[in-house]
Amino acid sequence: MDAVQDVARTLDLSPKQVRKLLDRFRVTRGKGFRLKDHDPADTAGHLITPQQAHHMLGAGVERLAELQEKLYAQDRWSVLCVFQAIDAAGKDGTIKHVMSGVNPAGVQVTSFKVPGPEELAHDFLWRSVRALPPRGRIGIFNRSHYEDVLVVRVHPEILERQRLPRELIGRKLWDQRLRAIAGFERYLARQGTVVLKFFLHLSKEEQKRRFLARLDEPDKHWKFSTADLAERDHWDAYQAAYQAAIAATAAPDAPWFVVPADNKWFTRLIVGAALIEALDKLDLRIPPLDAVAEARLAAARARLEAER
Ligand code: ADP
Repeated sequence: MDAVQDVARTLDLSPKQVRKLLDRFRVTRGKGFRLKDHDPADTAGHLITPQQAHHMLGAGVERLAELQEKLYAQDRWSVLCVFQAIDAAGKDGTIKHVMSGVNPAGVQVTSFKVPGPEELAHDFLWRSVRALPPRGRIGIFNRSHYEDVLVVRVHPEILERQRLPRELIGRKLWDQRLRAIAGFERYLARQGTVVLKFFLHLSKEEQKRRFLARLDEPDKHWKFSTADLAERDHWDAYQAAYQAAIAATAAPDAPWFVVPADNKWFTRLIVGAALIEALDKLDLRIPPLDAVAEARLAAARARLEAER
């Protein structure tokens, strides 16, 4: 038993090592941020051994389940994880893996699609506000309010459908939206929502490989969409829009993680570690019962034991 524990201990990264690993991908201020400085194929080989990575992937799921239970019981904080990515970067698979151990009652996943008539009749943050996680829960946004400064920025014709009054559409529109998002997230943080944002950073070459794999395998055909291929033609415009969005909204209380996405295992490891680190920092505890509640439990026990 001791030997097993020893091995687990040597495989575990210390909190300091984990912070160092995450700091490599965490962006908390936008000044000077350039997407080009981030390598989509990075696996931080000098900071973590393959054995440690393997161990973290397995142990992380369990640890997250424990923390989520306390988050739920404590019922004070909520957690919002925003996932944004270019097509085929692995958003869905990452969410599925990272959340695989947690109690579904404590998690809500919202996938934001092309807005429908009701959504278009409102301001762009409206649908995000409606989907926010209540206290004690983890909310996952699979795409988010960022689409309104990404796909809409790359295809300004979509803006037409949003029916903004003409006089409000000007050169500053994107900066104004980005500032609105930063303000919204600061507000959430001050209300007790832990905001974590993940950009799964995929290389253009790896996207091509994954698209081809979808075409090669009949089981993956459903995942292939010619619309995704059309978006690939706008690669540079998307990268520029992502860079501007991350730079304008990265903040200590709403950090971005620019997660390398060319290796799926590494994407999962970083997202899982970021979530665990954030929950760990909250020092979550199952709330102790007061004397009245304790007495009620004792009475319940006595009653059950007296049953025949
Ligand atoms: P996913 O690619 O996330 O698995 P879909 O294939 O259904 O899911 O794609 C959702 C689509 O909805 C994406 O093309 C995305 O750009 C689009 N979308 C999301 N939000 C908006 C928005 N606010 N305005 C326009 N299009 C949006």
